[in-house]
Amino acid sequence: MTPHSPLETAWTRSKPPLLRFLNNCLSEFAAETSGKVADYIPELGKADPAYFGISLATLDGHVYEVGDSRVPFTIQSMSKPFVFALALDLLGASRVESAIGVEPSGDPFNSIRLNSENHPFNPMVNAGAIACTGLIYDSTGADAFEQIRAALSRFAGRDLAHDEAVYASESQTGDRNRAIGYLLKTNAVISDNVAGVLDVYFRQCAVLVTARDIAVMAATLANRGINPVTGEQVLSAYAISRTLSVMTSSGMYDYAGEWIYRIGIPAKSGVGGGILAALPARLGLGSYSPRLDKHGNSVRGIKVCEALSSHYDLHMLNRSDDARNAVIADYDIGKSPSRRVRRPQEREILAAHEQEVRIIELVGTLSLSAVDYVSRRLAGRPRPQFVIFDLHRVTSTTRAGARLVAEAFEELAALNVTVVLSGVRRASKEWNTLREWTAELKNVRDFYLLDTAIEWAEDQIVYRYGGSIDFHETTELAEQPLLAGLSEEELTDLASLCAIRTYQSGAKILTTGDPADTLYFLRSGAVHVTLPDGIRLATLTAGMAFGEMALLEQIRSADVFADMAATAFEVPLKDFERFRKQHPRASECIMRNLARLLADRLIVANAKVDILTAT
Ligand code: GLN
Repeated sequence: MTPHSPLETAWTRSKPPLLRFLNNCLSEFAAETSGKVADYIPELGKADPAYFGISLATLDGHVYEVGDSRVPFTIQSMSKPFVFALALDLLGASRVESAIGVEPSGDPFNSIRLNSENHPFNPMVNAGAIACTGLIYDSTGADAFEQIRAALSRFAGRDLAHDEAVYASESQTGDRNRAIGYLLKTNAVISDNVAGVLDVYFRQCAVLVTARDIAVMAATLANRGINPVTGEQVLSAYAISRTLSVMTSSGMYDYAGEWIYRIGIPAKSGVGGGILAALPARLGLGSYSPRLDKHGNSVRGIKVCEALSSHYDLHMLNRSDDARNAVIADYDIGKSPSRRVRRPQEREILAAHEQEVRIIELVGTLSLSAVDYVSRRLAGRPRPQFVIFDLHRVTSTTRAGARLVAEAFEELAALNVTVVLSGVRRASKEWNTLREWTAELKNVRDFYLLDTAIEWAEDQIVYRYGGSIDFHETTELAEQPLLAGLSEEELTDLASLCAIRTYQSGAKILTTGDPADTLYFLRSGAVHVTLPDGIRLATLTAGMAFGEMALLEQIRSADVFADMAATAFEVPLKDFERFRKQHPRASECIMRNLARLLADRLIVANAKVDILTAT
């Protein structure tokens, strides 16, 4: 494609589908002009009814914005969920929960009715919100507004100010809210200084936000309290989940039942024209359009939420999951051993006990259902000695999942099964969670690389069944599989061409890209073959050849390091080629052996690919 082809230009200008969706909402619903701008707070009546902004924040911290998404307006009742969450964390759940109910009232937001215990029905209506502010005021006094403003700012990820004119306007006309305040005081829900509490409440309602802020604040609720843009844990997961609960049942006042039935996303509206919708584990939406319906909810905002929910099928109760997706491979060492090239005696032992090392590769979230499924799957086959769980594709662990993991590991310990974890980076969140839950257990080991884990388990099997792995043993050329079938005379001739070389542990013996001009027969110790990016291809012990690809290629295609002090018979390629010319029968033997070794490697490599595509 040429740099300026029309397709290339279109490519650079193309928009993500979600942004296109929001733009479509904007143009389609701009035509909607029903509803009325709130004017019971005189200053609010000045808002331009044409304003329309939408923003959507994802949990990886991306914020989509269309229309008037940066026009400031007052947060009003959308402050209520955040102040409730703040009260829960600041004063403790029991204090707050004993003062304010969590039942939907079915009343408009400014209803002056209390429940049968003379407490507010819930924190999403004015009475409950004023009670929340009252509780915070009781404990922090003059600092209450600053505490609230700071908390709202952390949810938004920027410093929020308030609109003095709207505050003053509501303060002058807010007698109904004052009446609610006094009612709460006579019922001992707030202690005293109703005027002080109301002053904070009016200010909190006058905090200025944009649709973008609201989207980020909503996304923070949807993300268990972690602001996805700043990464800050703003409030506790407990406070956030309880806040979403009351948003679900009461966030949209006397429209709440209908809202959750039809749209199915926890939400909160404000008379300033904002709607905030938080879909847990998915996204946060903020919209701004000042015309309100008879419930006090933004007409266009509701349309945007309806469209989002139905177009993408986001109703939170319309979900399914299949735990079986968590397992992407389940096999034993018979099907896919480690990359360690084993000697015949080790190979025999491992072949007889291949079912005793089981490997289960997992992906995605370790949830309750995923772990439950894995534990049943494990039990469906004979008891292994070792179970390796490879977690390098696991992205998260829920608390339920971690608890079940701990319980499953305990059960395995009782049955003398050793658990080996691979793919968990130490000090990562996953590691900490798993460690927290499995700290007591003695049967859990971990290796970062799956191959190292498999190799370790194989070694244990070899030891358990009477085998020995003697790295210090010295082997002769006659034991090399590559030289199998050569006569004693031929071997003696070849030996006369070899020099014995010694390598320190860690020494680099071969380097990728270097000319391939020497063959090596490992005499003692162990070496490993890796690609330059660190991927290990094989571990070789005494009696095996390396650098043998020199027979086929001129350049080294991998690095070789000594794993421990090692010695090797080294023969220059040109001498070896001369030897082959002089001994045509031996040469044919060697090339046939080479073909067999390569075929064996290919079979193992194919099995590894197969395992991932066939499970
Ligand atoms: N400040 C407004 C009031 O108390 C908030 C109401 C709302 O947004 N629904 O009347």
